[in-house]
Amino acid sequence: MFDQLKPQPADALLSLIKLYNADPRDSKIDLGVGVYRDETGGTPVFAAVKSAERRLIETQDSKAYLGPEGDVGFVAAVCDLALDGAVADDRVAGLQTPGGTGALRLAIELVVRNLPEATFWVGTPTWPVHMSILTGLGARVRTYEHFDVQRQAFNADAMLAAAREAGRGDIFLLHGCCHNPTGADLAPEHWREVAQILSANGAVPLIDLAYHGLGEGLGADAAGARHMIGALPEALIAYSCDKNFGVYRERTGAVFAIAADCAAAEVAGSNLATIARNNWSMPPDHGAAVARLILTDAELRVQWQDELQGMQARLSRIRQRLAACGKAGDVDLSHIAAQRGMFATLPLSPAAIAALRERHGVYMAGSGRINIAGLAERDCDRFAAALADVEGL
Ligand code: PMP
Repeated sequence: MFDQLKPQPADALLSLIKLYNADPRDSKIDLGVGVYRDETGGTPVFAAVKSAERRLIETQDSKAYLGPEGDVGFVAAVCDLALDGAVADDRVAGLQTPGGTGALRLAIELVVRNLPEATFWVGTPTWPVHMSILTGLGARVRTYEHFDVQRQAFNADAMLAAAREAGRGDIFLLHGCCHNPTGADLAPEHWREVAQILSANGAVPLIDLAYHGLGEGLGADAAGARHMIGALPEALIAYSCDKNFGVYRERTGAVFAIAADCAAAEVAGSNLATIARNNWSMPPDHGAAVARLILTDAELRVQWQDELQGMQARLSRIRQRLAACGKAGDVDLSHIAAQRGMFATLPLSPAAIAALRERHGVYMAGSGRINIAGLAERDCDRFAAALADVEGL
């Protein structure tokens, strides 16, 4: 049987980690994998998470099954954190999921199973897993240019034109904040314009909120999503706690279906639960229990917010430092200060990306995406000099 299978390409970023680990140079810089790093290159466990974990070990008295909806206290706390009362609670059906990936999978499968005619509108470039989940489920997809990498420019006109073309029941995918892989977010007026257009044509937003708090702060990063769900009868939200609680491997997230009324929300929730049951039965508990403890305890919540704010401030500092380098060879870094979150995508050729790796020990994805958090402040000038050195390749 297995001889019938075709080998699948290895994940490019995981292959890059192997190359990076094998590089003996002390000066090497890893801008590949998308995890937050502190100034020393570490990805430590939040102190608030450690405290909550200790509390959990002492107080958890059972590991019996919870059910496909997961930890309902966690779901309610994340709903508050993300939506902050932008819609009445009884219009929201929420489920805990294995990370933001699980939330996207549920949201997309809900649509494809029940409304196979719906088209998903996706701005490019986007996080590659968006595309692989969509195509894996056989969804209809139309793309438009979210960002022109060569010009380093967000293409609001293309987004608005795509929104206008979307039909009733189509799904309009949006990154809530900290766009992966470009850092190019919608300004408040773009959120308002897209919301207005979708409200007129009956298309439904699917908002992927995977970096809440890492762009400008918890309020500003969710403002677009909150505006949109306040303005529309229906929406889907895929939320990840893996970055903003630093619990990546615990696979912590939630999906929310916002429906026109309480009865429709109940039906949407029952459909999501059925799909979850058939995929993973129920989500892993630990990360969600920890996030619930943090979000529902005043002291832990303040500690967590301080830590998150420290990460956001570091990302902004690195962005400012890079932008201050101005033009580095063919690449104008000055746009980076106006972008948000962990990523930027630079207009680099495959030859330049290879030369950065070989000559300078700078490792980045083949797409030109860099993880801003992979740079220490002291690395910024050296990185800009390395970019200048590969000019013209
Ligand atoms: N959406 C985007 C845009 C992401 O970048 C990621 C993680 N890389 C996710 C969703 C999924 O996050 P998780 O690790 O929680 O599955």
